[in-house]
Amino acid sequence: MVRLKVVVALYPFKAIEGGDLSLEKGAEYEVLDDSQEHWWKVQDTNGSIGYIPSNYVKEKELLGLQKYEWYVGDMSRQRAESLLKQEEKEGCFVVRNSSTKGFYTLSLYTKVPHAHVKHYHIKQNSRGDFFLSEKHCCSTIPELINYHRHNSGGLASRLKTSPCDRPVPPTAGLSHDKWEIDPAELMLLEELGSGQFGVVRRGKWRGCIDTAVKMMKEGTMSEDDFIEEAKVMTKLQHGNLVQLYGVCSKHRPIYIVTEYMKHGSLLNYLRRHENTLGGNVGLLLDMCIQVCKGMAYLERHNYIHRDLAARNCLVGSENVVKVADFGLARYVLDDQYTSSGGTKFPIKWAPPEVLNYTRFSSKSDIWAYGVLMWEVFTCGKMPYGRLKNTEVVERVQRGIILEKPKACYKEVYDVMQQCWAHCPEDRPSFRILKEQLTIVAQSIAD
Ligand code: AMP
Repeated sequence: MVRLKVVVALYPFKAIEGGDLSLEKGAEYEVLDDSQEHWWKVQDTNGSIGYIPSNYVKEKELLGLQKYEWYVGDMSRQRAESLLKQEEKEGCFVVRNSSTKGFYTLSLYTKVPHAHVKHYHIKQNSRGDFFLSEKHCCSTIPELINYHRHNSGGLASRLKTSPCDRPVPPTAGLSHDKWEIDPAELMLLEELGSGQFGVVRRGKWRGCIDTAVKMMKEGTMSEDDFIEEAKVMTKLQHGNLVQLYGVCSKHRPIYIVTEYMKHGSLLNYLRRHENTLGGNVGLLLDMCIQVCKGMAYLERHNYIHRDLAARNCLVGSENVVKVADFGLARYVLDDQYTSSGGTKFPIKWAPPEVLNYTRFSSKSDIWAYGVLMWEVFTCGKMPYGRLKNTEVVERVQRGIILEKPKACYKEVYDVMQQCWAHCPEDRPSFRILKEQLTIVAQSIAD
């Protein structure tokens, strides 16, 4: 007999396109077809059938703690702190995966004796019972949380609320098999900025989904090739990549429609918040790790970014950092940007083999990533200061690299130096970097 796969909705989803099905948070659905990675055909308990985003549900048997409001999964200590501080409520708490695999940490906000966040490891005794203080053991984590809702039992405060209105993740495309977006359904709002390709505006799709709309200046990109590629790009999905929703390609200028990131570019974010971020090594490292996770996903899918830099990453709510504009560089028509001799070429992020032979690879992304780490740890300084491009090229060829930023631990600078190995083969992969940086983060604190 074929085993039925039953999933539970982690987030609500509103079906707008015909053929899609709405999800109610916490409700169960039977999976009828999961052959496409991102959109599954499911049936609800009333017998209605339709497509739903697969990242909005979790198999019932594997659900674990995910059904609880207070469980936030892989959130770092630093992000848990900023989330709870933002709420400013006594007893507000989350449970997150500890940086030691298989363990959990409770992060709790209290105003006593002054506003701060305390982190408690959830421990297990020899019988397998969970506890925060040895006097009060429970057989499951939800029971333990429930106990401490009623008794502080040694904690700085009784557990009260958890942050609500947490962001819902983007879907891969706005519906199943949909990457062509009707501009009539896109309401254009304020300008968010402008860049290489033209103006970027905030947009609302069908009145409810926030998007960023890049209006491509005519003549700046080889449009037909890009439109073909966009189909592939909408299928790339990771919590640290800015999601491409689709394109409006039937009129000019073409629009690229992506997930909206409320704090804008990482570079400006670093510069704007230098005072608060500068001293917080843990938070800066966490930003680097997030970018590394997004890049490790691209590397796994053999996808090269070609223009990784802090200006091409974006910051969303809860200090989430995502990589944007991956692969776009291939479709730029401007010689000044594409040729290593051009005035707009990102020389300062380029390794020797790119400067010499324009040879891009995941290893050239690694070099750029090292420079991005440097940008993060200097809170957005310009690499190589005022040096001219020709002087930078000469230095890089001679093996002179960027100096250690003041706020940066030796262990973190060691990682940057590995990214700047002269031979591409000597540079680590993003997968390895992620492991190394996670170990450094653990040694700072958990
Ligand atoms: P770009 O053309 O990608 O360099 O974008 C220019 C500027 O628009 C960026 O520096 C951001 O301030 C803003 N921007 C671009 N994409 C987004 C987005 N997805 N969400 C929010 N702001 C964005």
